[in-house]
Amino acid sequence: MNYGRTFNFSAGPAMMPEPVLEEIQGEMMNYRGSGMCVMEMSHRSKVFEQIIQDAEADLRKLMNIPDNYKVLFIQGGGTLQFAMVPMNLMKNGKAVYIETGSWSKKAIAEAKKYGEVIIAASSKDKNFSYIPDCSDLDIPEDADYVYICENETINGTTYFELPNTKGHVLVSDQSSMFLSRPCDVSKYGLIWAGVQKNVGPAGLAVVIIREDLIRDDLPAYVPTYLNYKTHADAASLYNTPNCWAIYCCGKVFKYLQNTIGGLEAMNRLNEEKAAVLYDFLDSSKLFKGAVVKKDRSLMNVPFVTPSKEMDADVVAASVAAGFSNLKGHKSVGGLRASIYNAMPKEGVEALVAFLKDYEAKH
Ligand SMILES: *Cc1c(COP(=O)(O)O)cnc(C)c1O
Repeated sequence: MNYGRTFNFSAGPAMMPEPVLEEIQGEMMNYRGSGMCVMEMSHRSKVFEQIIQDAEADLRKLMNIPDNYKVLFIQGGGTLQFAMVPMNLMKNGKAVYIETGSWSKKAIAEAKKYGEVIIAASSKDKNFSYIPDCSDLDIPEDADYVYICENETINGTTYFELPNTKGHVLVSDQSSMFLSRPCDVSKYGLIWAGVQKNVGPAGLAVVIIREDLIRDDLPAYVPTYLNYKTHADAASLYNTPNCWAIYCCGKVFKYLQNTIGGLEAMNRLNEEKAAVLYDFLDSSKLFKGAVVKKDRSLMNVPFVTPSKEMDADVVAASVAAGFSNLKGHKSVGGLRASIYNAMPKEGVEALVAFLKDYEAKH
């Protein structure tokens, strides 16, 4: 069916798979004979209990999450995790952060409120256009964890190799790459992701935390809601959760497993899709990618023309051609195409055809 939807290259909230939206549409007025929409449903009802349990079970299957990890659905989006992580994990009041761009900078600024932050590696010297070597970091013995932003949404870099934490707990912000490729959860202490980049509606974070990191001896100032234990003990139903987002995410988990065929298959599609755009950028004389080849994100692709004026002209022309949200983030300028899981390959091909045409005319 043609709904007149555009290819939406937004960094988030971003596209969701069309079959999922259609399924949601079909259940809008009466969810499976319950007589109501999920938005209208008690979070204590049997029907919703089933929805949240299925969502967790489907995510566990999709990511192959070991039994000694809890899966938590927490409100406050991604940003609240910048505070929850240090509040809950800083036992010795010291943590190591890798500085790779806008989102790790935000995490660093927040963590400094709660303890000592050691920046063990940074790519600031080259405008965050690469991932620094993290094979031999200087990590103090008593550091509580090593923190990375695994895919920098604004700068367009990603880790293809995890840092050597020398036995310390690894914490990762996976917001803009969550479920885009297989992930060995056992290598992490905590993974978190704001879901509106690659999964569902805004206002929800998924937290996957190793059980031994959940504490009941947090400082008294930590609000009850911001203790991971509160959510773990109540199976994410301590208070009214973001029921709607959990329901939508659950549908996407099922879709990735059953329709796409799991995360290996998703990764192959993402590689094919990103190659269409990167191959063009590598061959273009007008457009240039902003990131070194080996660290390029498959999700967020920032690129520039020779001038700011032309960047703006391309953005305007792209809107006229029916594309949405290609303007680069205000902090870095240029253009950016976010091509998450739900962006079809045809969307990227159409974008490249448009950019080729623009180049030919200029
Ligand atoms: C968007 C984003 C966030 C913040 O998410 P909000 O839900 O807007 O608070 C954090 N980290 C990364 C990598 C992001 O892309």
